[in-house]
Amino acid sequence: MNLPRLTNTLTRQVEPLAPLAPPKVGLYTCGPTVYARVHIGNLRTFLAYDLVARTLRARGADVVHVMNVTDVDDRTLDEARRRGVPLREVTDRHLAEFLADLDALRVVRPAVMPRATEHIPDMVALVRSLEARGHTYEADGSVYFRIATLPGYGKLSRLPTSGLKAGARVSHDHYSKEEARDFVLWKAWTPDDGDVAWDAPFGRGRPGWHLECSAMSRHYLGETLDVHMGGVDLVFPHHENEIAQSEGATGKPFVRHFVHTGFVNLEAVKMSKSLGNVRTLDAVRTLGLAPEDFRYWALSVRYRDPIVFSEEGLVAAARARADLVALRKRLREATGEGTGPGTSAAAAARSRLDEALDDDLNVSAALAALHELKTEMNRLLGRGELARADADAAEAAFAHADGIFGCFAVPGEEATPADVSALVLERETARKRRDFAASDRIRKDLAARGWAVEDTPAGPKVRRAGR
Ligand code: AMP
Ligand code: ZN
Repeated sequence: MNLPRLTNTLTRQVEPLAPLAPPKVGLYTCGPTVYARVHIGNLRTFLAYDLVARTLRARGADVVHVMNVTDVDDRTLDEARRRGVPLREVTDRHLAEFLADLDALRVVRPAVMPRATEHIPDMVALVRSLEARGHTYEADGSVYFRIATLPGYGKLSRLPTSGLKAGARVSHDHYSKEEARDFVLWKAWTPDDGDVAWDAPFGRGRPGWHLECSAMSRHYLGETLDVHMGGVDLVFPHHENEIAQSEGATGKPFVRHFVHTGFVNLEAVKMSKSLGNVRTLDAVRTLGLAPEDFRYWALSVRYRDPIVFSEEGLVAAARARADLVALRKRLREATGEGTGPGTSAAAAARSRLDEALDDDLNVSAALAALHELKTEMNRLLGRGELARADADAAEAAFAHADGIFGCFAVPGEEATPADVSALVLERETARKRRDFAASDRIRKDLAARGWAVEDTPAGPKVRRAGR
């Protein structure tokens, strides 16, 4: 299995992914805090997660993607108080909106999206093991992590080890901490929390934000994660503190590959709910553009580089995407016999695309290969020189690219849902591994969802069963 190379924030190097038990890849991603509609900065990060998961699947990996949903923290509680409604009402609403945005963007839903409030016992158990290993202290009913007990603290962010700023999300707990850089694991109940509290051996309260990711990733993926992703703003303190909690509790490496995504900025400023300069997916629709246009725009810049949001940029992306989709449709006009130069052009484009993605997801080079293929195909079609077999080869290259980029479906035709495309890809890679039991299992799974897959010389074709 040839997995792509990605920048590992732990080493600051571009390294091949090296999962512990291939072909399985455990992917844990930091999901949304559901106190408002997600903005397009968040969505860019979620699209980068999806691109990584789809690229790994196209390489034969059996990806288990787990994304947490933060449904209890200062921000969600503040919002519920501000609106005068129960916490659950706020979080249910924004979680539903979030899922609708993911579906509109053809994001393959993660296998599990655990809510923090459903895993409190895991979090309590984690605090207990940290207590047992001498990493904690209590003050005023809250439990803190004592950073001085963990010599490797700071290895991810590489910030100076003393005088670190206190975690931005632990606002009203400064007084009791012994050191500014210590962080809260469990927050004692305060009247502001209302009825949101859980009983724990160390007192009634609620978990700190960092604790949820350490506890839930361990619950679903074990003590060591193959890949952990999040936005670059999470490197410190969130991911640094996750490492402290997880490694403090197990003594084992928490993450093999840490991958961080760049910001969407509005002019030079980070787009963020707290700055009030946010745009949602509705801003894209207001421009008369499709969610897939935003998808193309967001994926056309390498995941770790910042992008500046602009209407011109979105419109240019929509145009580039439309050109690719139009060519894909036009390929059906080819009637020539035999094979011509188109077949080798398609094969070359496909391998350039794969090589570019292997190189730390170099999407510019990958998309350039597709656009060059498009130009060549249009040229051959214009001269009436495109053989049917060449067109099929080009179509197979576009279908492969669509499995990864997820925005080259021809409109008007029922687009294959993202989860179905993912299964088709998974089955294809199982077949390549000659794992026919797995490929059969996936075929049955597809049939149960109402889809039939047929293997053709140009690759698998999927259609609605019974049509
Ligand atoms: P939050 O809902 O704030 O917990 O953030 C959810 C995810 O979106 C995290 O991985 C953040 O790092 C990421 N994120 C937040 N703001 C931006 C932005 N402006 N651009 C890209 N990613 C962001
Ligand atoms: Zn997290």
